[in-house]
Amino acid sequence: MRKKIVAGNWKMNLDYNEGLALFSEVVNMVKDEATGTQEVVVCSPFIHLHSLVQLAKGSAKVSVGAQNAHQAESGAYTGEISAKQVKSVGAAYVILGHSERRQYFGEDNALLAKKTDVVLANDLKPIFCIGETLQEREANVHFDIIKSQLLEGVGHLDAAAFSKLVIAYEPVWAIGTGVTASSDQAQEIHAFIRKEIAAKYDQSVADATTILYGGSCNPKNAAELFACADIDGGLIGGASLKSRDFTDIVKAFN
Ligand code: PEP
Repeated sequence: MRKKIVAGNWKMNLDYNEGLALFSEVVNMVKDEATGTQEVVVCSPFIHLHSLVQLAKGSAKVSVGAQNAHQAESGAYTGEISAKQVKSVGAAYVILGHSERRQYFGEDNALLAKKTDVVLANDLKPIFCIGETLQEREANVHFDIIKSQLLEGVGHLDAAAFSKLVIAYEPVWAIGTGVTASSDQAQEIHAFIRKEIAAKYDQSVADATTILYGGSCNPKNAAELFACADIDGGLIGGASLKSRDFTDIVKAFN
């Protein structure tokens, strides 16, 4: 019904040659794997994108994505990269709203709404990240936070545009910490997100939306997380930097 995706987020890691070597291994390793994962996406730094797209040719399963794009179509924004430029090298996805962008670069819901529009206008698919901090969870406002990130970030889209998104639930307290949300905690939030999508659009849109879990997902915990009814795959940070670990996560879907 909805696509099962495992996406890697390399963040600001790997030089050009290291990235190509890792990606080649991943393409080779996932090629023959029998898995429920229908699409493997690698979101690399911008410098790798063009070469990774070339390496991915011939692999039906592997796609390439960026980790950010500017909200303007083009212009005098020294050092920035536009969605159109990302599209022009053949990438398919752009991560938006990652908590590191929200935290270190001040990206808020209003800015992310603009970025989402530009990314979609350039025929790229956003992987739109939402998730609460530990303080927010402890204050029991995590449902409110997730709802506002969802509705203020992408709730302005019509159903057809929303259907192009992948949503990633990434509790900030689980990112890069080695602390994973339990499968019960993750499933609870994924079900909540799907319910909110159904309330905003309708049940068929909600049922068709791929919702990934991200936050210290690894080969040991992936199968249990992916077995949850509303978890449709993972957004993988640290473990995407090791071809064996990443491939094992790809294989964790049955
Ligand atoms: C991420 O940054 O998107 C992420 C999930 O990181 P990690 O897997 O390292 O927690």
